[in-house]
Amino acid sequence: MSEVHFNHKRLSNHILIGLVGGLVAGIALNLTIADVGWVRSFVIDGVLNVVGEVFVRFLSMLVVPLVFVSLITGVSSLSDPKKLGRVGGKAVGLYMLTTGIAVSLALFAAILIQPGIGANPTEVVEREISAQPSFGQVLIDMVPRNPVQAMAEGDMLPIIIFAVLLGLSIAVSGAAGERVSRFFSDFNEIIMKLVGFVMLLAPYGVFALICVLGATTGWSTFVGVLKYVILVLVVLILHATISYSLLLKLLAGLNPLIFFRKMRAVLAFAFSTASSGATIPVTLRTVEKRLGANNRVASFTVPLGATINMDGTAIMQGIATGFIAQYFGVDLSIGQYLMVVLMVIMASVGAAGVPGVGLVLLAGVLASVGLPAEGIALILGVDRLLDMTRTAVNVAGDAAVTCIVARSEGELDESVFNEFNEDD
Ligand code: ASP
Repeated sequence: MSEVHFNHKRLSNHILIGLVGGLVAGIALNLTIADVGWVRSFVIDGVLNVVGEVFVRFLSMLVVPLVFVSLITGVSSLSDPKKLGRVGGKAVGLYMLTTGIAVSLALFAAILIQPGIGANPTEVVEREISAQPSFGQVLIDMVPRNPVQAMAEGDMLPIIIFAVLLGLSIAVSGAAGERVSRFFSDFNEIIMKLVGFVMLLAPYGVFALICVLGATTGWSTFVGVLKYVILVLVVLILHATISYSLLLKLLAGLNPLIFFRKMRAVLAFAFSTASSGATIPVTLRTVEKRLGANNRVASFTVPLGATINMDGTAIMQGIATGFIAQYFGVDLSIGQYLMVVLMVIMASVGAAGVPGVGLVLLAGVLASVGLPAEGIALILGVDRLLDMTRTAVNVAGDAAVTCIVARSEGELDESVFNEFNEDD
């Protein structure tokens, strides 16, 4: 059978059109007929909701098989297993560094702008707060008791550990290892094709997700905490554009404009799904095929980043802590601010890249400096928009660090990075 070639012509643009179109249509519905019975049940909760959710399912469906196969392919093809340790060390170091920068920026902004003074939330929602696992437990849970169970539950860190160990064993198993490695490498190509198929649905999926959101969001909840919302958005954008650009330029000599241009579609995926985990297939495909990072590095650093690197989440948590402290009139000491930085970095490691988790983990951060977890209720009503935006930043961070690490290991093809086609 002949090979299928994707006509990816301007797919990125179509995804962005879907995003903006969805927003405009959603807000228009919200202002006009969103409350009419049949519009709500057939259009918003019906067709649009189904299309959006099916799209997210398609993406989620690919995450576990892709990460597993891709990591085995990458690790088993390493000529020098020591390289894995180096790549891991660099990636973890950079992920911690960027998260540290993010939360420090956030705290600085919260102290400077004081978003909690005069805040007056219109909607205080009750919510159950679940406890944050201890750091020791996070370490224990990294090793799967049963890899099949970890896969069934989509638990990323244990899947990564298992796939890395299996890949290393394949690499040192001589002829048998070579045969298996070839199989996984072919399988990887096939799954990447499948990711390409799902991406063809993206313009419609993104349109539907954003339209439902625009049509159902009660904008009045934003009024009392507008300063907080705007501050989080501004710091998110500053961190993404300035911190990542500087790191890409200084540490890897790469042009940040090209990076962001090629990342447009990935950012739109992350924004509309609010899940860095569900975005993994698209992130991986883009950093490998469009930004030129080799699978040997990207297959490891992208899923790892989606789990342990959450700069956007750290920014929200930093500003939210300042906001809640100011709202309750609590003065935090320098030591307490440092504690917040540490806790936010740890929360970022322990959190899975799924919608809304950053807010849940905020409870642990607040508790570490004696602030009431109930404070979270103040910002709950506006969190969805911030969740979407911070997820895009989280994913941009994963991709930027992947490019930097790949470049430093001689595993980034600059001609691919710099090359443009009609899709970019
Ligand atoms: N939704 C975010 C992500 O998937 C996590 C969060 O901040 O809630 O990256």
